[in-house]
Amino acid sequence: MARYTGPVCRICRRENQKLFLKGERCLTEKCAFERRAYPPGQHGHGRIKFSEYAIQLREKQKLKRLYGLVEKQFRAYFDKAERMKGVTGHNLLSLLERRLDSTIYRVGFGSSRTQSRLAVRHGHVLVNGKKVDVPSYILKKGDTVTLTPESQKVAAILASIESSKNREAPQWLEVDHGSFKATVKDLPTRDDVTIPVEERLVVELYSK
Ligand code: SF4
Repeated sequence: MARYTGPVCRICRRENQKLFLKGERCLTEKCAFERRAYPPGQHGHGRIKFSEYAIQLREKQKLKRLYGLVEKQFRAYFDKAERMKGVTGHNLLSLLERRLDSTIYRVGFGSSRTQSRLAVRHGHVLVNGKKVDVPSYILKKGDTVTLTPESQKVAAILASIESSKNREAPQWLEVDHGSFKATVKDLPTRDDVTIPVEERLVVELYSK
């Protein structure tokens, strides 16, 4: 499936928010948003008045790009969230959070969602003891995620784990870095999703 391959920092500048898409670099002074906190392009410095539609669209784009998805994939998650019981926006966030690549990032086995996606693709990850190389795999309550014995020696993964020790793991996951293991204790609720997004705007956009 195709995905966005353009400059990643441009996304943060476009959405006027740090989205932490580049791992460690986001925490340094090299962060492009820290240096140029205005939208890219020749009109970036101008004052732009957004319409209601534009505000909803930007929120959708932000959420979609945060998880590294293209429109078709994102829309499919929305349709699935709509069919589920409960609040559509909350269901959408829960599905996105439970993607295997996102969970790998959350537990610190990858320094960014991009690196986590590669870790899954390259076969570093086991779900319930079996290799799963599909980043979009949706985890269920009770699933356990571990790294293969070879992966537990990969320098980039070890560095990610080390730096993630300063981050608090989400409540819905039980993480044991010592044994390279994470367990889905419960499904994530809205309160567990700390990303700066107003999912209500996405629902409004798709409901037009
Ligand atoms: Fe965004 Fe990270 Fe780039 Fe900063 S370094 S602009 S937070 S992706």
